[in-house]
Amino acid sequence: MSFLNIDHVSKTYGAGAQATLALDTVSIKADLGEFICLLGLSGCGKSTLLQIISGLEEPSTGQVLVGDEPIHGKTHPSASVVFQDHGLFPWMDVTANVAFNLKARGVGRAERTRKALDYIQMVGLSGFEKKYPHQLSGGMRQRVGIARALSTGPKLLLMDEPFGALDAQTRTTMQNELLRLWERLTATVVFVTHGIDEAVMLADRVVVMSPRPGRVRQIFDINLPRP
Ligand code: ADP
Ligand code: ADP
Repeated sequence: MSFLNIDHVSKTYGAGAQATLALDTVSIKADLGEFICLLGLSGCGKSTLLQIISGLEEPSTGQVLVGDEPIHGKTHPSASVVFQDHGLFPWMDVTANVAFNLKARGVGRAERTRKALDYIQMVGLSGFEKKYPHQLSGGMRQRVGIARALSTGPKLLLMDEPFGALDAQTRTTMQNELLRLWERLTATVVFVTHGIDEAVMLADRVVVMSPRPGRVRQIFDINLPRP
């Protein structure tokens, strides 16, 4: 049994004449530790699929299983999400932002601060612990978002164009950093992008989604040996 099993998932937004078919019977399986990129044009349903995997949206039909458990309108305890706009809390400093997911899981103050500081160091932000999001560059904010996502030790890391708002040079840096961090985890990554270069750079497997509503047109394993 695969770790992640997306099983005949369809999604329709709205109803009647206003209905939009965003995903049409998508099935994808991934093993623990695989890095999968969902690649496709804008509007093909990538974000919708990621939100369904994360439990933020319900599928219209079909289901998603993580470690054999169905996702039902809540984020799986071993999943973490990173968004393009990073979703940091502007009123919290870096440490509080990174510790937030731990706090939400009931981890005590001393332990969550200790863990947050570890992850801040891991993403290369030592010295910025007390800065607020507006005092950071785009790349640094995304590092905070990644540290927050990793702090709970996720088995499933869901990333929706996390580097989409960054300049090309920062994006390349962040892609390399992400691979370096991921090599230390045993986690499945589902990474949404419309950039074919980014998909080829990052993925073990690229799932190409058709510009027609949501259908997965082709799945190919590029199986690049990692250096
Ligand atoms: P992508 O991430 O590939 O750009 P999306 O998943 O955002 O694609 O969108 C897929 C389709 O579903 C698009 O036609 C979009 O307009 C529609 N859609 C997405 N979210 C909603 C929503 N909340 N309500 C209605 N339609 C939506
Ligand atoms: P990256 O995040 O990939 O390092 P950035 O372009 O975001 O790339 O930032 C490059 C470097 O510039 C950072 O590592 C940091 O040392 C410095 N820097 C950027 N923004 C700030 C800031 N607001 N305050 C202090 N140093 C900053």
